[in-house]
Amino acid sequence: MQLPKKVTICEVGPRDGFQQEKTIIPTAAKVDIINRVAASGVQVIEIGSFVHPKAVPQMADSDEVARRIEKMPGVQYRPFLTNLKGVERALACGLDRIKLSHAASESHNLSNFNQTIEQTVKGFEACVELAVKHNAVLSAALTVSFGCPFEGKVPLENIKAHVRRLNEYGIYEISLADTTGMANPNQVYGMMSDLVQTFPEVKWILHMHDTRGMALANILAAMQAGVSWFDASFSGLGGCPYAPGASGNVATEDLVHMLHEMGIETGIDLDQAIETARLARALVGHETDSRMLKAGKVSDLVLEKPKGQNKIS
Ligand code: ZN
Repeated sequence: MQLPKKVTICEVGPRDGFQQEKTIIPTAAKVDIINRVAASGVQVIEIGSFVHPKAVPQMADSDEVARRIEKMPGVQYRPFLTNLKGVERALACGLDRIKLSHAASESHNLSNFNQTIEQTVKGFEACVELAVKHNAVLSAALTVSFGCPFEGKVPLENIKAHVRRLNEYGIYEISLADTTGMANPNQVYGMMSDLVQTFPEVKWILHMHDTRGMALANILAAMQAGVSWFDASFSGLGGCPYAPGASGNVATEDLVHMLHEMGIETGIDLDQAIETARLARALVGHETDSRMLKAGKVSDLVLEKPKGQNKIS
């Protein structure tokens, strides 16, 4: 099996994980969990979302969170945003990493942003200009890249056209999201093999939701296609807006565990990641899909050996 030696995990829990939670998590708790994530060895953290507070009330304190977190050297702290106002807010908080986003399909873009893709992307022009002026590094996410709940499969040619457009803006760090958990490993392997070859200068990041239990399998397929950056969320928080109650993002601790068991480095302390997952579960106040919290690590198995006595005599 062709696998990377090292994988970089981007923790999206503070944004993608918390944003759909009904209980508003106190700012201090968000700051604390982000500091813990950084201390566990995660090098990229999505700390919040600079969108309209009415649209996502849970993210209304993202500016304060951004100001209060300890900025550990070597760690990238980035917000998620969609327009110029968001970029202004991010820069005002001293952030130098910015993640823009639009949907890979027209219908999803309309439903999420109330705009055509063209309108959203056109709006990126001013964002890029301002960010570049302040030496901020831009990345972009294409949501529903592996399937749209309104349109089904998104043609690869469309993804390529979006990527070319982002490249024109100087954006080469691109996250492809399986927002609604529709991807399968064959599809991921085929798409990523093609994209990695077609765009060798792009740094690909995959964002896999485990809505239908395929996230880890999809990540394995992507690694074989040459991808080594993945988003993940503590305790598997995240959910799917179109399937209430469904599993969320792939859980950070489950992904770290699988990679370490396979001999792939992440630079993350698994025990600390599990502690963070436990804390995240406590903050949201409900059960999560974290396999580590349910079953523990393989290396912790110390069951007493069966005695082997023959009971049939
Ligand atoms: Zn997501």
